[in-house]
Amino acid sequence: MALIVQKYGGTSVADPERMRNVARHIAASKAEGNQLVIVVSAMGKATDNLMDLARQVSSAPPGRELDMLLTTGERISMSLLCMALQDLGVEAMSFTGSQVGIITDTVHGRAKILEIRGDRVREALRDGKVAVVAGFQGVSTEKEITTLGRGGSDTTAVALAAALKADVCEIYTDVTGVFTADPRLVSQARKLKHLEFDEMLEMAGAGSKVLALRSVEFARNHNVPIHVRSSFTWEQGTWVTSEERKGEKNMEDPIISGVVHDAGDAKITVLGVPDQPGVSAALFEPLANANVNVDMIVQNTSTAGTTDISFTLPKTDVAIAQPIVEKIAKQVGASGVTNDSNIAKISLVGAGMKSSPGIAAKMFRVLADNKVNIEMISTSTIRISVVVAAPMLETAVRALHTAFDLDSGEEYSAPLPERK
Ligand code: ASP
Ligand code: MG
Repeated sequence: MALIVQKYGGTSVADPERMRNVARHIAASKAEGNQLVIVVSAMGKATDNLMDLARQVSSAPPGRELDMLLTTGERISMSLLCMALQDLGVEAMSFTGSQVGIITDTVHGRAKILEIRGDRVREALRDGKVAVVAGFQGVSTEKEITTLGRGGSDTTAVALAAALKADVCEIYTDVTGVFTADPRLVSQARKLKHLEFDEMLEMAGAGSKVLALRSVEFARNHNVPIHVRSSFTWEQGTWVTSEERKGEKNMEDPIISGVVHDAGDAKITVLGVPDQPGVSAALFEPLANANVNVDMIVQNTSTAGTTDISFTLPKTDVAIAQPIVEKIAKQVGASGVTNDSNIAKISLVGAGMKSSPGIAAKMFRVLADNKVNIEMISTSTIRISVVVAAPMLETAVRALHTAFDLDSGEEYSAPLPERK
């Protein structure tokens, strides 16, 4: 008997029929003798719709009330799923994040989980019931309802799996696993059987939307094996574990596990910044205080005592960041500020990079041969990222996928899910 946490994303419970499908799958897992904790997201686009509603009544919805509103999406899913389960004769009970003791900090809209008590879930399991938990939410140390940030149900699921010492956390979604590239862009992309936590972490950080970044951090820190798979086909998906990734095809050299892209960032450049101590701190401290998520930062070597500093940030943060940067630029005597939203970030990720030199050089050569200009570069031990002009995105991703021997040799044929 295994203790399994299963998480169903919005598309998996988008309508009553899908909900009944999921209930049947849960009933079958239960019949195999497993103990089950289910985490659900809001149905389909429910969270987006609630956000729209909030914006229609308020230009800046207060965080507390927004969280109160958004958490209703998951309450609808959890209760409906329990009804569907009971209809199949499976005893099931729904719980809000607060009821199962998911304790968070007090930051509305992107709260961090501090602790999971889980008593009520354990009790339900002891009674032989399936526990169905609302994802994406908790209760703060100040007893307020909080949400964990978009896509946060993954984090709920992995955190619960860690707290309950579950054998595996299964994440059911609308793709059949993690791919070597987005199959919507690269028809030759193939599904990976296995990834290491660090690789998945880099992929999530580089823009892969399959798993929320925070959930992977949790999984790595608590060593929770994740199985990403589809609730449409139920086939074996991608395992994410602490084990080292092995070659998947006999002759394959698994240096690179995937090409990840992110078209959600913009670039801000501060021109003619005086090159002296304290300028970067003066610039980035207020951005951090405003919760702006800065990603890549590049500072040029100075000529004649001034330099340019460029950084990337989510497009959605530009409206907050731009006035802050302009103010600081004036204060430190910079000559100007520009921004560019027409960029894309492309990353190569692979644990094999650690021990094989020349990956960056090869990446730059492939881009050059395809006439793709590189605007920024950043690296970690197992990732190389470049920023390019957005219109070059598809060309660049496809060329890299081919050059690093990731092409499957066959066209991706499964129906392509809608972009999240
Ligand atoms: N329903 C929330 C969202 O759409 C949480 C989730 O889906 O994981 O962001
Ligand atoms: Mg969702």
